[in-house]
Parts: sequence; structure tokens; C-alpha cells
Amino acid sequence: MAFLLSMFFLIGNLYSSQVELRQNADARLISIGETRAAEIGDFLIERRQAAARLAGSEDISNYFSNLDLGMSVKYGLFANLAAIERRFQAAMDEEKYQGQPAYLRLAFFDRNGVVQVDIGASAAPTPSPTNLAEPSIQIDEKRRLIVAGAAVLQKGKMRGTVETVSSLNLLASLVSATDLGQPREFLLGDDGEVLLPIKREHSAIVTQGRELAALPSGRIQALSNVEAPELKGYLALRSPVGGTRLSILRLASEDELYGHTLSPLSVFYIGLFAIVLFVLAIGFERMRQNAARLQNKFVESNRHRAELAEHNLALSQEIERREAIETDLQRQSAALDKTNAELRIAAAAFNAQEGMIVTDTKGVILSANRAFVSLTGYTMEELVGQTASLFRSRRRDAEFYQSMWNSVHSTGGWQGDMSLRTKSGEHCARWLTISAVKNEASEVTNYIGSYYDISKLKHAEEKIRELAFFDQLTGLPNRVLLIDRVRQAFNANTRNKSFGALLFIDLDNFKTLNDSLGHDMGDLLLKKAAQRISSCVRADDTVARFGGDEFVVLLANLGTQKAKTAALQAEAIGEKILAAFTESFRLDPYEYPCTPSVGVTLFSPDDRNVDELLKRADLAMYDAKTAGRNGLRFFDPVMQTMISARAALETDLREDLKKERLLLHYQPQVDHEGRLLGAEALARWPHAQKGMVSPSEFIPVAESTGLILPLGALMLKIACRQLACWSADPATERLTVAINVSALQMRQKNFVEQVSAIIEQTGANPHRLKIELTESTLVSNVDDVIAKMDKLKAIGIGFSLDDFGTGYSSLSYLKRLPLDQLKIDRSFVKDVLVDPNDAAIAQMIIALSKSLGLSVIAEGVETEEQYAFLARHGQLNYQGYLFGRPLPPEDFERLARAFSPRRGPRQERASVDRTFA
Ligand code: C2E
Ligand code: CA
Ligand code: CA
Repeated sequence: MAFLLSMFFLIGNLYSSQVELRQNADARLISIGETRAAEIGDFLIERRQAAARLAGSEDISNYFSNLDLGMSVKYGLFANLAAIERRFQAAMDEEKYQGQPAYLRLAFFDRNGVVQVDIGASAAPTPSPTNLAEPSIQIDEKRRLIVAGAAVLQKGKMRGTVETVSSLNLLASLVSATDLGQPREFLLGDDGEVLLPIKREHSAIVTQGRELAALPSGRIQALSNVEAPELKGYLALRSPVGGTRLSILRLASEDELYGHTLSPLSVFYIGLFAIVLFVLAIGFERMRQNAARLQNKFVESNRHRAELAEHNLALSQEIERREAIETDLQRQSAALDKTNAELRIAAAAFNAQEGMIVTDTKGVILSANRAFVSLTGYTMEELVGQTASLFRSRRRDAEFYQSMWNSVHSTGGWQGDMSLRTKSGEHCARWLTISAVKNEASEVTNYIGSYYDISKLKHAEEKIRELAFFDQLTGLPNRVLLIDRVRQAFNANTRNKSFGALLFIDLDNFKTLNDSLGHDMGDLLLKKAAQRISSCVRADDTVARFGGDEFVVLLANLGTQKAKTAALQAEAIGEKILAAFTESFRLDPYEYPCTPSVGVTLFSPDDRNVDELLKRADLAMYDAKTAGRNGLRFFDPVMQTMISARAALETDLREDLKKERLLLHYQPQVDHEGRLLGAEALARWPHAQKGMVSPSEFIPVAESTGLILPLGALMLKIACRQLACWSADPATERLTVAINVSALQMRQKNFVEQVSAIIEQTGANPHRLKIELTESTLVSNVDDVIAKMDKLKAIGIGFSLDDFGTGYSSLSYLKRLPLDQLKIDRSFVKDVLVDPNDAAIAQMIIALSKSLGLSVIAEGVETEEQYAFLARHGQLNYQGYLFGRPLPPEDFERLARAFSPRRGPRQERASVDRTFA
């Protein structure tokens, strides 16, 4: 690059120096031309001045003075003219230019153009006088003369003219004086005529004169456009002579002018040539390097070839070695073939019908036969590498396996009953034989396990058991099995401390059927009865055929430690069984009605005597029979009284519900500042004989008998009527009523319609109605409950979750329920001050309701301390004896009126306490 740059620099320099040289040559040429033109100009000016000098001479002036004085020509004027003639002659003789006479002729004309003096007339033709105001000069090209004229002025008036005529050849010395050796300098006339030099060797100049005279002056021109071939390649310069139409033309060839300077084009070509040379040099250098690289590669590939040859040699040696090994192998394989034949015989034995496995000394399976694979359902890949524990059916204790392996080690074998579990989880009865395999040195190398099929044997065993423990007609457990199960139940209940029950069932009038329709029909009835009874109990309860038409149901665990609860549950199942027999039996072609009599006895965790228990149940059953059949009796008189009372309660409740004899009491609900918000409506049943019956007594009866549905509807109706009534009184118009709705009610298909209809009939404002649900409502079918809640919510009804914290509170459903309120259960409030657990639960509920955006109400608040504790943890609503007991509507209205909006909350509560608590 640097080289290239310096190259450019040098060429640039060369170029500029050449241009300068040429400009200098040009300038020299131009200056010579101008000098020539000036010299000629000077010469001509001198001629004009000379003419003027003659015209202004004293002799002429005298002549005109004397003429004006009227002097006679003969005397005075003649002398004057003679004096002029002398002067002219003297000028003719004396004035020279470069050694030659300056004038050819001198003439003086008067005003009328008449010649007065004329000297040298023979040498030159007479010029015609001109009327000149100023001295002038004219070139007579034809006659090669220079004529200069000057006017004679006398007292400001023109009186005549003086003319001088000189030879044009006088200028030859100026023109021919050439610095180039050759006459290349020409004086051109105004229309291109060559005036000098006189010798006209350059005929081309003469012919081209007109064109040359037209060249622009003062500039060097290349004569490329000129027709004459001799002039081609010449440079020309035309310099005009000032004051005339003459010009000097100088010609020079390029060589003559510029000598050995270079033209710009040549400089450009030289530069180009240098660059090309340089580029070529670089190219050659590259080629040289490439050639060197190729040479290197060539050397290297030669080296590789040599290495390859070496490898090939090693390879062929290896091939030879392997061929030797192969022949050796072939020899060995021939020997193996012989051994294989022996092995195949062993394999045939291995692939027998019975499942077999081969293990190593540690019991890891090495192989299994096809029968074993298809028996277990495991693939060979799954089996190999495992131990027998993979398909062991029952877990036997470690002792069992220990003794098994002891036997194997000491005697070389073991056999016994070993059930197999297949891959799909089935159990197969098999007889396992384990035998040890020993080598020549009597060391154990493997074990073979053969599994013989004993399922048929087992099946037979099962059948025997069935005959022994099950009734052949109904398939139910027989008396023997029942007694066994009762014993088991005794043991379990002693551990759990819970109650169980035994139900003795006898079909009424079965003997009549057997006698009238025959034993086949009797058997059929027994089968169907067995099915109906079984359908009433859970899977882990036992229904047994005790003999003839007697069945016994064992409710092994009633899951309670309370006799009363156990009795209610046993009764419920007994009732269910009775209900199952209300429909008559289809015994084609007959329809046979059949009822049972049921005797019930509970057994406590302390009971141990099976016979005694059966006797008690049997006795109770006889009681039921004597009481008129198709009924249920308890053996325990206390239980019996309770059950009877309950039945009576149910009858009475049913009756009183029909007559709408139930009412509602209202318990106040207040906000955190003690302001009355509304009431919870609580059912009350004024019984004709017993007086006011507590809802905790009759609500469970109503729930278990389905009476809760009409009861709930009635309570709702009363509550709505009350709301409508309160809306007319300013003291009660803003109050809300919370009504309890049981899970069974919510489960009714038309519950939403029911509620809507009641609201419409009563005209109650649904926005003042709140439904209290318990968590039991949400145990099943939550989506359905949510859908119903959403619909009711849409009409304006609010929801409160009652007894919150006692049930299955699951955050997941809590978030989905359209609730407005959580109700902290009484039980937590009761011990909030003494039990840290309850306090924590209460706080948790408050925090939870806050995060779910729900309000919270604490129920069962009885003391100031409980109130203070809860108030410390949030802005709650309250319900409890501290604020007011459930009151009949009239009393509640009075209480509502006692709340004055102008009084402070604490005062209000105090006044409420005084008046109503
Ligand atoms: P519940 O819904 O938890 O109602 C609150 C019970 O707590 C009421 O008992 C009420 O009198 C009582 N209570 C209120 N404040 C206090 C207090 O400060 N201390 C104590 N110890 N108890 C207080 P009640 O009226 O005997 O009702 C018992 C249960 O019967 C109710 O419990 C509710 O589950 C059910 N119940 C009452 N009326 C109806 C009804 O119309 N429909 C249904 N389905 N159930 C009802
Ligand atoms: Ca409630
Ligand atoms: Ca409650």
C-alpha cells in the first residue's frame, strides 16, 4: 500500500513538473510573439509620427502664411515650396531604417488635393491624398508599401496633407530575425495574405492564410483542423499588431517548442504501467507462496501414504491371527454341539406341565419354564433377577421361611403348601417342591422349585367348608359361622368399647305357606326374604340363616359407646327391615304377603355369652309376635320404653304438624355495638300433655322419619308471615329473620320453588330472610346445593353457615359457596375463656371469615367475659342469653321497641338484659 501511495505521489509530481515546463515554453513563445508584434507596432507608429513631423514643419507653415498674405506664387511662394522640397529631399536622403532609406516618396498636397511638393515620385506610385484629421497609416499590400499620412493644420484649420511612402520590406528584418533557425514567422495581412517573408517557400501558409488569420490571438493552438498536411502536428500562435490589422503568426512543432517534456497522457500511461507492474509483482508473489504450500502438502501426503502402508501390514497380520482363532472356535463348537444334545433332554424335562424355576444359591431366579411364565403372567425378563417374594401370596412370618430354608440346607429339599400371586393379583394354590442341584464337588450350585397345581384339591376343601358354614338354600352364613362371628365381634367391641346389636327375625305365618303352597314355594320365599334382609344392612354386618324361617342379623359394631344411640341405630335398621317386607313377594303365579317379627338386643363391650345373647334376641322376637306380629321389640325394658316413647312422639308430631300447632320463638341477634339486627327463628312445640317439647328432642325424630320436610315448610311459612307483619312497624321493619333449614330439606328437588312460593304468598321481603345451613348439608352433592343457593341468593335470600367448626369445614367448598356469614358454634364460645383450643378455633374462624369477605356471628354468648374476648378479635355479630333468650313474637317485638336508635349500644344491651333476660 505504501509503495502504491508513493508511486502515486511520484507520478503526481512528474505530472505537475511536466505541466509546468510546458506552461513555461508556452509563455516564452507567447512573449516572443508579443515582442515581435510590439516591434512592428513601434515601427509603424514611428512612420506616423515622422509624417506628422513633416506636416508640422516650419516651411509648410510659412508657405500657408505667405499664401494667406497673398504673396505671389512667382516670388514668395515659390521660395516657400522650394524650402519644403529641400526639407523633404533632406529627409529622403538622411532618414534611414537599419541602413536602408526610410522613404521611397514624400508628397505635400494642398487642400484641394493638388500636389505641391513630390519627391521620389518615380520610385513609388503617387498615392491619392486623403483627408486626414489625424495622422494615419495604411498598408498597400499589393504594392508592398507603407503609406503614412498627416494633416497640415494652420490656425486650427486643415490646409493640406503630407504623405510618406515606405517599403514594406523595411519590416523584413523584424520578421525574418528568427530564433528557430527556420523562417516559421510570418506577417499576415488583414485577409490572410502573407506579407513577409517575401520568399514564399511555405506554400501551405499562403493557401491557408485566411484560416490562420482567423485564429484567436494570443493563444497557442494545435493545427489539427487545418487541411494542409504539412502543417499537421504544428502549434501556432497569432499575435496582432496594435493599431493595425496586421498580425504575426509563429509556427513551431511540438518537439521544437517543448523539447523532451512529457505530455499528460504519457505521464498517465507511465503511471498505469507502474501500477500494473506492481500488481503483477504481487500476483507472482502469491503464486510463489501457493507453489510452496503445494510442495509442503505433497511432502505430507507422501508421509501419510507411508503410514497407511504400515497400518495395512498390521491389519493383515491381525486378520491372520483371527483366522487362527476362528478355526479354534469351530473345533470347540463341534464339542459343544454334543453337550447341547444332552442339555436339550434336560430342557424337555424342565418344560413340563408344572411350573418350574431355577435359582442360584441365594434364591435369585435364573430361569423359569413356559408353564411358570404363563401361570404367573410375568415375562421371563420380569422374572429373571427377582426372588420368589415377587409372587408370594400371603405374608408368612419370618419363622416360616427360616424353617423352610433350614430344611433345604440340611436335607437338600423342602415341600409344602405355597400359594402363588399372579401378576394380575389372582391367587393360585400350589404345592412347592424345592430341590438343591449339586456339582461334582457336592457343592450346591442351584435350586429348582416346582409348583404343582393343587387348586382342585383346594376347591374341594372350600366346598367342605361351605357345607360346614353356609346355608345351602340361601347362601347365607349358618348358625355355626354366626356364632363364630358373634365371638369375634365380642372381642373387637371389648377393644373399641362400642356397642353392637343382634336382631332376631322370624317370618310371620311361614308354616301356613309351606303347608298350603308346598316346600318349593317356601324355599323360594326364604331365598327372596334373605335377599331383602341382606339389602338392609352394610357389607360388614352379618345376615345368617339360623334355621327354618329364622334369620339373625349381627350388627357387629354400632360405632357408639352410648346405649341410647346404639338402640336408635339398631331400631333404624330393624325398621328398615320391616319396611323391606311391606311389599308382597312374587312367587309365580302367586303374590304372597309376608311380614317379619323382629327382636332386638344390644350387646355391650362387657357381654361375652353368645347363647345368652341369642336367647335375649329370641325372647324379644316372641314379644314382637305376641304384640301382634310385623313389629319390633327390644329385649331391654328401658330401651323398649325409650323406643315406644319416640314412636309416640312421632305420632303426636305428625298429628300436630297437620294442625300447624308448632310455633317459632325469636332470639335476638346484635351487631358489635349491640344494635339489634334481627332474630334467629327457633321451632317450639307446645305438646298437649308434655308442655313445651325441646327442638333437640323432636327435630331428630322429625329428621329420621321424614317429618322434617312438612315441619321445615311450616316454620318457613311462619317466619315469612312474621317478616311481612314486621315490615309494617317502624320498630321492626329493618329486622332480619334467620331460619334453620335441614340437609333433608335442601335435598328436595323443588326446594327453591317451595321457598319462592312461600315468599310470594306471605309477601315477605326476601332480603330480610337468612337461611342457616349446617355443614351436614354439604356432605354430598355440593354442586346441587350451590346451584340451589345461587338461585335463592338471586332472589335476595342470605346464607349463614351454622355450627361452623364442628363439621367437615373444607376451605375448597367454603370458597365456592355463596355464603354471607359464618356462625361460630356455641361449643367454642362456651369454653373460649378456659380452653385455649376453643379460643384458637374462634380466632381462626374470625380470621377466615375476614379473608373470605364474610361476616361472622358468635352464638351462645352468655357472659360479658366471652363477649369481651370475642370483641377483642374482630367486629362480630352476637347471639346468646347475654343479649336475649328466644322469645315469643310479642315479647320480641316489645324488645325491638325498647331499642332506641338514640341510646348508646352498651346502655341498650343493659336495658335488654334487665327487661327480658
Ligand atoms: P341451633 O340452630 O344451633 O340453635 C341455637 C340453639 O342454641 C337454640 O336452641 C337456642 O335456644 C340455643 N341458645 C341460644 N343462645 C344460647 C346461649 O346463650 N346458651 C345456650 N346454652 N344455648 C343458647 P334450641 O332452640 O333448643 O334449638 C336447638 C336446635 O334445634 C337448633 O340449634 C337447631 O339445630 C334445631 N332447630 C330449632 N328450630 C329449628 C327449625 O325450625 N328447623 C330445623 N331444621 N332445626 C331447628
Ligand atoms: Ca341455627
Ligand atoms: Ca347453631
